[in-house]
Amino acid sequence: MTLETSIEYVKGVGPEKAKLIRNVLGISTVEDFLNFFPLRYLDKSKIHKVAQLHEVSTEVQLKGKITSVQEIQTGKTKRLSAKFNDDTGAMDLVWFQYSKWMKEQLPINKEIYIFGKINVFNSQFSMPHPEIEIDEKKEADNRLKPIYPSSEKLTKRGLNQKFFQNVLRTICMEIPNLIQENFPDYLMKAFKFLSRQHTYLNIHFPKDAEHFKKADYRLRFEESFFFQLGYGLKKIHHKSHTAGNPFPIVGDYFNNFYQHHLPFDLTGAQKRVLKEIRQDMKRPIQMNRLLQGDVGSGKTMVALLTMLIAKDNGFQSCIMAPTEILAQQHYNGIKELLENTEVNVKLLTGSIKKSDRKIIHEELENGELSILVGTHAVLEDKVKFKNLGLAIIDEQHRFGVAQRAKLWAKNKIPPHILVMTATPIPRTLAMSFYSDLDVSVIDEMPVGRKPIITAHRREKDRAYVYNFCREEIQKGRQVYFVYPLIEESETLDYKNLMTGLENVMDNFPKYNVTMLHGQMRPEEKDAAMGYFASGKAEIMVATTVIEVGVNVPNASVMVIESAERFGLSQLHQLRGRVGRGAEQSYCILMTSDKLSSDSRTRIKTMVETNDGFKISEVDMQLRGPGDILGTQQSGVVDFKRLDLINDSAIIKITKSTVEKILTKDPLLINPDHQILKNYYLRQYKGKNKWSKIS
Ligand code: ADP
Ligand code: MG
Repeated sequence: MTLETSIEYVKGVGPEKAKLIRNVLGISTVEDFLNFFPLRYLDKSKIHKVAQLHEVSTEVQLKGKITSVQEIQTGKTKRLSAKFNDDTGAMDLVWFQYSKWMKEQLPINKEIYIFGKINVFNSQFSMPHPEIEIDEKKEADNRLKPIYPSSEKLTKRGLNQKFFQNVLRTICMEIPNLIQENFPDYLMKAFKFLSRQHTYLNIHFPKDAEHFKKADYRLRFEESFFFQLGYGLKKIHHKSHTAGNPFPIVGDYFNNFYQHHLPFDLTGAQKRVLKEIRQDMKRPIQMNRLLQGDVGSGKTMVALLTMLIAKDNGFQSCIMAPTEILAQQHYNGIKELLENTEVNVKLLTGSIKKSDRKIIHEELENGELSILVGTHAVLEDKVKFKNLGLAIIDEQHRFGVAQRAKLWAKNKIPPHILVMTATPIPRTLAMSFYSDLDVSVIDEMPVGRKPIITAHRREKDRAYVYNFCREEIQKGRQVYFVYPLIEESETLDYKNLMTGLENVMDNFPKYNVTMLHGQMRPEEKDAAMGYFASGKAEIMVATTVIEVGVNVPNASVMVIESAERFGLSQLHQLRGRVGRGAEQSYCILMTSDKLSSDSRTRIKTMVETNDGFKISEVDMQLRGPGDILGTQQSGVVDFKRLDLINDSAIIKITKSTVEKILTKDPLLINPDHQILKNYYLRQYKGKNKWSKIS
């Protein structure tokens, strides 16, 4: 038997069952079977007492005697029932399909062990179809018993737990010939790992809970370790292969701005991130960096300073935003900041006039234009640069990998790429989502920000909520009311939005109300935004179009209607529209009275924390990591045992271990590391470009 042996040839399997297993479980080799892990284990080392059983017991083992057996006839069906006693109480054992043979087998008044699931009916306990072992025969085997993932279809065709256990037992006998170590001695010693052979043995047939834990730890560690190793090797490969324009200079444009026009001190995190970016762009290798920072953490300033470095080195930059409103805002903000400098900046969106567009095209090609702010319009083939050196993409979750590739092609030597996102992913997870990007994190808010106070309110509190809003407006603040707009029920949602608008106008007759939604034309949107941003309107009624990026520091209240219909990250983004100024801000989550348990968790999380990283962890627990970034993110990794949320300690330590190894020995030439390289290549053969450089 080898790892590649087809399961067909494993004792007890045969061609027919092999085919079934292959089709249903995707297992075709001995190796696949070794990596077919039990879902859970039965602990037969514990003996429970009848008197201490409680409702939610799963499988339990009891020791006692059967005192009597009874046939019970109901209608046409007959079942078999037996009284079981231990020294603490009695319960029924039940067989729903009567068989005479079964009845004769039952050992009466003998010490036995019974094992099975507990049923509760009228607070009486019973055990259907128990497994019975007679005391003398009970093996002195305290190992935990594996339960494999199976299905009714398989069980019906003879692939029951006994079958899986027997096959795995057969394979596990061969482990000494099958399993080779994949960690060098020094790592084995440093982490006190169970050997790899013992790991597999104890994952299928754990000697005890302690051994299982060690085996489980090692498998999670391995998975994370080799993923990180692959990631590191790929990065080394990329760095030695993808040329970029080096930006060695930090010159007058940057320094002049930094010394004379910067309206505030940078936070420590902004400085650190900027340094990481500078280090990256210094080298003649293309930068591919993800900049993560919670809403309001000040990513825009980092972007601007980065673009000034590009300018200092004689290159053009562009910054792309997912919506017209956002692009416009970036443009306004950047233009204002650059007002007294000689840096030329222009805006390109779908609604820019043809004549203006022509000028932009010209200035891009002759190099007069240094910074282009825009939407997807920037990606069009007509838009050509003289020398695009840096492309910044804001709010990355709206852009796919394919669009990034389009930017690459805008210059002969691909521009450095900086992707900015406010979807905060726990740092340890980010690299598994964006395995092709380096990650920088702004994990500090500008000083003086007051944490937003969040409250959960229901329909009956509406009058109180309106009152509160009025008080805030009287203090000179502004208020948002946001309504959900979800495509499947678009007409209904617009109706809700209109009703909401009327309702707000009725209740705030003294104030100006403006509205913003996705169906408006760009100039209407701009007008509405302008009306609110300038303070002419005290209230903005909107859909989630305002979710991303909109910046009106004087707004201090965000009322989210039907908040139970929003996802967590959306709620967090919406809340981020307030709390941008020096005033205390509030977020009020309006919901109906009845909430699903997930909705309740989401609302509770929002009320309890402002920390985007914590929120995204809860979000991931509710939705699973794969769902969050959607299918556009190819390369989301599916781990077998590693849990991206709960194993962050393992991820951290494997990351630093791998970094140490690759810094010293980037090609894994050291004899100690041969073992790693061999395993990696075997595991990932064909899946990875890196194998070419081995
Ligand atoms: P985001 O990361 O969400 O894009 P922005 O870049 O829009 O955040 O910044 C949010 C607000 O904080 C802006 O009004 C910006 O001017 C301000 N800001 C950014 N950095 C600082 C800082 N270091 N100190 C004070 N205010 C800052
Ligand atoms: Mg932003």
